[in-house]
Amino acid sequence: MLENKVALVTGASSGIGREIARTLAKEGAFVIINYNGSQAGAEEAKGIIESEGGKAAVYQCNVSDFDACEAMMKDLVKEYGHIDILVNNAGITRDNLIMKMKEEDFDAVLNINLKGTFNTIRHLSRQMLKQRSGKIINISSVSGILGNAGQANYAASKAGVIGLTKTMARELASRGITVNAVAPGFVDTKMTQVLSEDVKKAACGQIPLGRFGKTSDIANVVAFLASEKADYITGQVISVDGGMNM
Ligand code: NAP
Repeated sequence: MLENKVALVTGASSGIGREIARTLAKEGAFVIINYNGSQAGAEEAKGIIESEGGKAAVYQCNVSDFDACEAMMKDLVKEYGHIDILVNNAGITRDNLIMKMKEEDFDAVLNINLKGTFNTIRHLSRQMLKQRSGKIINISSVSGILGNAGQANYAASKAGVIGLTKTMARELASRGITVNAVAPGFVDTKMTQVLSEDVKKAACGQIPLGRFGKTSDIANVVAFLASEKADYITGQVISVDGGMNM
C-alpha cells in the first residue's frame, strides 16, 4: 500500500513512534526513524523493521531545534529524493500543578511538542509543495481536547498541535497535501509507565472501553491516514482513546 513512499517518523526510537515506523514499513514504506537521545533504541527499531523484511534508516535530530530540522530535511531530500509521509510524534511530558510548574518545564514541553511540529512542517512543506503530494500526521492527545489537571504545558502544546494541523491543512490542500492529527488517550508506553497503579486505575475508569490503548491502536490509524485510502480526509482530529472524548 505504501510501496515507493518515504516516511519520516519523529521520536521513533520507542513507544508509539516505533510502532508507527514498524507499521508503515510493513505497508512497504522506506522509513526514517528520527530520535534525539536514544540511538540504541532507534537502531533496535531499525533492526526490528529489517527483521520483518522492511527498509529503514535512522537520523538523529532534536526536533525543537529549528536549524537542525532544516538540515535534516535537506539531508533527507538529498539522500532519498522525496519525503511523502511526515509523522510528528516526538513528545515529552513534564507534569505538575500550575502553581508548582517551572517555567523551564513549560518551555521544554512547548518547544518539543508544538514547536518541534512546526519546525519539521516548516522545513518540509516547500518540498511537499513541489511534489504536489504529501501526508502529514501530527500526534496530539486527548489532553489537548479535554484538558487534564497537572498537564497545563502538555495540554496547551497538544491543543496547539490541533490548531497547527487545521491551519496547515488549509494552507497546503490546494497542492494535494493532507494534514491530520491523531489524538491518543492513555497508551501503554514509557510515558505512562511512570504513573502509579492508583492513577492508572482511575484513568481506566474514564475510558469507556475500559483499557489503555496499545501502540498498534494508534499506528493503524496513522497508517490509514498515510495511505491513499485517506486522500479525501484533511484537517481532522481522529480520537483513538477508547471513547474518552465523545
Ligand atoms: P515515549 O515512549 O516516551 O517516546 C517519545 C519519543 O519522542 C522517543 O522516541 C523520544 O526519543 C522522542 N523525543 C523526545 N524528545 C525529542 C526531541 N527533542 N527530538 C526528537 N525526538 C524526541 O512516548 P510515547 O508514549 O510513545 O509518545 C509518543 C507521542 O504520543 C508523544 O507525542 C506523546 O505526547 C503522544 N501521546 C502519548 C500518549 C500515551 O499515553 N503514551 C497519549 C497521548 C499522546 P529519544 O528518547 O531518542 O529522545
